[in-house]
Amino acid sequence: MVETRHLQVDYRGKRALHDVSMQFGSGFTAVIGPSGAGKSTLMRALNGLIPATLGQVLLDGQPLGRPGTTLLRMQQRQLGMVFQHFNLVRRLSALENVLLGCLGSSGALQGALGLSRRAEREWAMHLLNRVGLADHAWQRADQLSGGQQQRVGIARALAQRPRVILADEPISALDPRSSAEVMDILRDIQERDGLMVIANLHSLETVRACAGRVIALKGGRLVFDGHPAELGSEL
Ligand code: ADP
Ligand code: ADP
Repeated sequence: MVETRHLQVDYRGKRALHDVSMQFGSGFTAVIGPSGAGKSTLMRALNGLIPATLGQVLLDGQPLGRPGTTLLRMQQRQLGMVFQHFNLVRRLSALENVLLGCLGSSGALQGALGLSRRAEREWAMHLLNRVGLADHAWQRADQLSGGQQQRVGIARALAQRPRVILADEPISALDPRSSAEVMDILRDIQERDGLMVIANLHSLETVRACAGRVIALKGGRLVFDGHPAELGSEL
């Protein structure tokens, strides 16, 4: 359902991904590799935030639209993003941040879910409850702990009813306890709701606990694709 074909991404002549071809089905996939390997670039390319220089990213067999197109915005609704630094709007409440997700990842799909304002609020509250933050709905984002902010970030990503969650270093900025809470939520989303989760992670322990598949990148190339238990010295 999500696929890359000979994906290459260059930044002003510097190659960040070389000829990466892979398919993602349902399940929890971890993306690992040393700093500079191209993990973030892959996550952003899968969401169309960065266009392919060569090759393609496909969603249900259709290439992602170029940045700024309606096609890409419609596709991005299927692809919820979770960021390392949460990217919440600091001065808005947790609830308002989740409501922003109801507009789609670019904010350009107002009304796309076809919900009334009241139904949107109920949906957003339901999601906050799901991530254990119903009691913090009216608290400003910048008054929440990092772990709480990331849980709001997940609720915001879920608000647009995506089929895929792309989490770019979702726990790198968190302490161990918050990290475990966030990973439990991501795992639960994958197992209970059947969403596809692709997460760029650092700790192999976390990868083994959560992922059914691991992809390793090194120098912009795919160097391993398999079960975490089979992972050898590819890094
Ligand atoms: P990772 O997430 O694995 O650390 P990245 O995808 O962030 O790797 O980066 C891959 C390569 O692309 C690195 O060499 C990095 O320096 C380079 N890179 C990433 N973002 C940019 C950018 N905006 N401009 C130029 N080079 C970039
Ligand atoms: P990187 O992966 O290079 O560390 P980040 O994930 O930190 O990048 O941030 C991505 C973008 O989101 C950056 O442009 C940054 O300025 C912005 N950003 C990060 N944190 C926040 C925040 N709390 N509120 C608003 N914007 C943010």
